[in-house]
Amino acid sequence: MNLLRWTQCRRTTTFLAIVFASLTTLAITGATAQRNWLQKQPDASEKGNPENSKLKNCPQQAQPTDPLLGPRTRDPGRWVGRQPVQPNLPIVVMAGHADSQAMASAGTPGFAVDVRNAAPMDALMRDELFWNFKVQEAVVRIGRSRGLNIISYRPPSLTIRNDNDPRTNWSQARVRSAKGHYILEIHFDAYRPHGFGSGLIPAINRPLNTVDESLGRAFGRFPRNFRGGLGGPRRGIGILEIGMLEDPLEAQLRNPKTRTQTVNCLAERVVEALVRGVS
Ligand SMILES: [Zn+2]
Repeated sequence: MNLLRWTQCRRTTTFLAIVFASLTTLAITGATAQRNWLQKQPDASEKGNPENSKLKNCPQQAQPTDPLLGPRTRDPGRWVGRQPVQPNLPIVVMAGHADSQAMASAGTPGFAVDVRNAAPMDALMRDELFWNFKVQEAVVRIGRSRGLNIISYRPPSLTIRNDNDPRTNWSQARVRSAKGHYILEIHFDAYRPHGFGSGLIPAINRPLNTVDESLGRAFGRFPRNFRGGLGGPRRGIGILEIGMLEDPLEAQLRNPKTRTQTVNCLAERVVEALVRGVS
């Protein structure tokens, strides 16, 4: 998470931007509704489900320091999500900072790059975004295999300077949240002492629901008004800080031998919380 992003003053949305975003959403809503009807609800405990074999040996959730995620946020909130949701709640997964590379709000470079002078995972983006994309993809893939009505959104460019451009995460979130979709944006927090730890910074434009509650139980809870209310949550985004981008988590992600398993285990934590949240 990069704080400059949240505190920037936003320009007024133009009429054309609203029209374009509405049309885009209409098209996506149609696709989502259709998939909903067609979607088979597989039994996650099926022995034949190939996703299950990949998810063996994932570390079990633990408090206060989680063997996979690291510590929960050191600044905890007390909110409770009680609003019920439909089992087929449309869920949109975004990658944090996907449209703000080469800007002040590009995300954390992580401990390895920033402190150890390691090469970035991808020269085109901060390491946080590299991992945000990996987890985003895995959450949608595993989520679909578990029967969730879940899609991803990825902006067409890594750098979109106008926040009100209809293609940004923020613009898409504002429109889709207004339609009742659940918007989840994947982030990794900065390393210590800058980072806080894992947890959900929930949306502040709607009542908190059972999906927020489930993610809060699995990952921890930031205060609802964290930093005075961030730009994403104001537009309906639930910001999920997976964990701080430091060891041991960062080493497990960077090691090619443990990378896929680690990403899948992180995604499994997210999916499990989403499944519980809509059940
Ligand atoms: Zn971030």
